[in-house]
Amino acid sequence: MHLARFPRVKLCQTPTPLEKMGNLSKLLGGPTLWIKRDDCTGVATGGNKVRKLEFLVGEALARGATHLVTQGAVQSNHVRQTAAVAMKFGLKCTAVLEHRVQTNDKDYLQGGNVLLDNLMGINIEHRAGGTDMQAAIEQVGARLEAAGEKPYLIPGGGSNPVGALGYAAVALELMAQANEMGLEIDRVVHATGSAGTQAGLVAGFNALNAGIPVLGIGVRLPQDRQEANVFKLAEATSALMGGPAVPRESVMANCDYVGDGYGIPTPGMAEAVKLLARTEGVFLDPVYSGKGMAGLIDLVRKGFFAPEENIVFLHTGGQVGLFGYADYLNAAVA
Ligand SMILES: *Cc1c(COP(=O)(O)O)cnc(C)c1O
Repeated sequence: MHLARFPRVKLCQTPTPLEKMGNLSKLLGGPTLWIKRDDCTGVATGGNKVRKLEFLVGEALARGATHLVTQGAVQSNHVRQTAAVAMKFGLKCTAVLEHRVQTNDKDYLQGGNVLLDNLMGINIEHRAGGTDMQAAIEQVGARLEAAGEKPYLIPGGGSNPVGALGYAAVALELMAQANEMGLEIDRVVHATGSAGTQAGLVAGFNALNAGIPVLGIGVRLPQDRQEANVFKLAEATSALMGGPAVPRESVMANCDYVGDGYGIPTPGMAEAVKLLARTEGVFLDPVYSGKGMAGLIDLVRKGFFAPEENIVFLHTGGQVGLFGYADYLNAAVA
């Protein structure tokens, strides 16, 4: 695993903190829970996409790109982080936003990430829910090319093998932290969506022979499709790194906490957001880390983990999205 072989721009403040959640662990009475603070990666309020953008934008700059083109849901954290990195490197940015969540809520449509996108002044195009979004950015790219620009297309969530290298780097970072602290990690748990985070971690831990299982908590697809996406991307990421074959059984997703669909709040998410705020002063997000933590809390309560285990929750960021769900969350914690 020799990541210096790939073009990369340094964006993240690393290592992000790895902290014990003493109050939450005590309250739940199960294993010792830790939190890896990738909500503190240091660009545009942080989050996991900055990790992937180190390699994606490294490649874009190496190719002489002038314009980053990407896509996501309306409250996409990935779009906000991509836009901020574009600003930093003096690149133009176009985001195609899919109206994946059916709502007329003003906070959702104009607050949170949308507000920050607007402050940065990126070009935004809108598409209806269910649109083929990869095709949509390819169309935008072709149009920009015809106009003499050099677009660099970043898939949804930055999830391709190049982007996933960012989380292979996190596998390395987490191993170094654990070894330094004398912490034996029994499992890493995090929210999984477009699959790049989990694929990178799985490929990275596998290449390092770390023996640390990763459990993704799904936020969109059913388990079979989520695991298939993660596995395919983990294999491609490992191949890109020249790493070993990825065992299929190292890819595990639990998709029981999606609720009614992507971006639709669940009571478990609201409870998790509230609990983390009130025990640890940590803010989760409503779409990803809130549902991921809802899964972790439920699994602790069901006795899925042994009491002597150390479980690391990877906080993938997204708190800006809280402001897109203000009415729901205010009511839920009242
Ligand atoms: C994108 C995102 C995820 C999911 O990561 P993937 O690599 O897309 O699976 C999790 N949490 C937050 C806050 C995100 O923005």
